Amino acid sequence: MKRFTAILLTGMMIFTLASCGKKAQDTPTEPATETQAAEKVEMPTETEAVTEVVTEAAKETQQTEAQQEEQTAEQPDEEQNNSGENNSSYQYVERASYENGESVSLNPSWQYADHSAINSGCAVMYKATANRKNIVVGVNAGHGTSGGTSVKTLCHPDGSAKTTGGTTGATKAVAVSGGMSFNDGTPESSVTLRMAQILKDKLLAAGYDVLMVRDGSDVQLDNVARTVICNNAADCHIALHWDGDGLSYDKGCFYISVPGGIKGMEPVASHWQQHDALGASLIEGLRAHGAKINGNGSMAIDLTQTSYSTVPSVDVELGNACSDHSDATLENLADGLVQGVEGYF
Ligand SMILES: [Zn+2]
Repeated sequence: MKRFTAILLTGMMIFTLASCGKKAQDTPTEPATETQAAEKVEMPTETEAVTEVVTEAAKETQQTEAQQEEQTAEQPDEEQNNSGENNSSYQYVERASYENGESVSLNPSWQYADHSAINSGCAVMYKATANRKNIVVGVNAGHGTSGGTSVKTLCHPDGSAKTTGGTTGATKAVAVSGGMSFNDGTPESSVTLRMAQILKDKLLAAGYDVLMVRDGSDVQLDNVARTVICNNAADCHIALHWDGDGLSYDKGCFYISVPGGIKGMEPVASHWQQHDALGASLIEGLRAHGAKINGNGSMAIDLTQTSYSTVPSVDVELGNACSDHSDATLENLADGLVQGVEGYF
């Protein structure tokens, strides 16, 4: 490498790493650095038949509780029970490139960014060092945004009303809810962060890059901002939660599937099959590691997250207040989620 180029690149990298909190880059139109170029080349472009293997036949309607962003409510709902074999529905999309350790903040020019109310914080990119898959998994530790309940954001980008849950009919929801507390008093946000950290390490070891949406006890990013950042900087978005259902027993894991009422609304219409396929794959991974699964593994709820998602996006509920949240249990759940990610991509 020419000496001048080497010095220039080194300088650019130091600048990049030093500028924590800088605004996220747009999809580069300027000449890419060598690192960026190398990564871009390796992004496979799947143009093979996008087989829509979502089986209409597999329908289960045995749901009992439904959880919305803040609480749960009784709600029977139609379900699409994807069997976990819809992996071929994924299409790689162009996304911005970041270095290891780089902060990723909300770029105001990104689609739907203007719907966010809390966005002064930033996510952090971590890159695998070996067996690189060039796939970025957005890991979103649920809750953990102080002040998140004092502002509201639109449930749907088009301003239409929520179709499920206790606030059906509302057009706005709290920007980030506080989350539940485990029976031992531990706040959900602490456990979701610990879960995210354990999952991050396992994903990196498996060759996936990880976008830590919340990398500490608090991040000033609301659910819209978290989602839009994942849309632009990750290949999928996995939000980690435990359900605040008020039950006295551990009902097990499930993912939040997309309710029928919003499947015609964009961007949901173009992406709900990806969301549900990823969710089904995560549940299969968890099941393979012996995790208890609730019902058929999914529950249809109208979430802000999936209403704004343009990459495969899932809220996975890993249990409830009665669930064990020791590191040993979280490690096992993380193994299941990694297997689910591997099954999806
Ligand atoms: Zn939660």
